[in-house]
Amino acid sequence: MKKGIPIVISAPSGCGKDTILEQLFKINDNLVYSVSATTRAPREGEIDGESYYFHTRDSFEKMIADNEVLEYTEYCGNYYGTPKKAVEDMLSAGKDVILKIEVEGAMNVKRIFPDSVLIFILPPSMGELERRLKKRGTESDETIAARIKQARTELDCADKFDYLVVNGELMKAVEDVNKIILSEKMSAKRNIALLEEVKNS
Ligand code: 5GP
Repeated sequence: MKKGIPIVISAPSGCGKDTILEQLFKINDNLVYSVSATTRAPREGEIDGESYYFHTRDSFEKMIADNEVLEYTEYCGNYYGTPKKAVEDMLSAGKDVILKIEVEGAMNVKRIFPDSVLIFILPPSMGELERRLKKRGTESDETIAARIKQARTELDCADKFDYLVVNGELMKAVEDVNKIILSEKMSAKRNIALLEEVKNS
């Protein structure tokens, strides 16, 4: 069985990566989502085992010690990490695995899986990002300013990704991400066995 591709999606807060992924899963049935582990508290509506696996610091550190996380980082005072076995099993089953992680984790995934595909979602402009964050109406001006600052730091790493997708119009961004995945699946370097098969047929 041909192994699946690890696909990393990173984006600053407010760029709409959750909405893009929600739509992407509707149009590509070979995708599966890697549920991360975290020590941050669940937000309203988040379900353990679906949004994240929620852990105490002690149990997260035990997972690290037991080599059960593929990569992990500390972000805003909390641990976030990718459970190793689940990702390896899904890739072996031929599924393309979506990892929704921040930029440092993305770089680590590329080191672990050189064949992974790193996609960075951009806002159409910094002004639009600020407007979107304000529209949510859930955060103070101070928090919004901190998120914009964080976004700029993350954008500084975006040139190390394989692809940049602008989320201006939602469905266009969804299609762009899907096209990247479909093209990668047809790339020559991923299809050497197919080439040999055809040559020998
Ligand atoms: P949030 O608390 O908003 O759900 O996530 C905060 C940040 O952590 C987001 O950028 C999210 O993509 C990132 N993140 C979530 N899971 C993981 C993970 O397993 N590994 C890494 N490196 N980052 C993660």
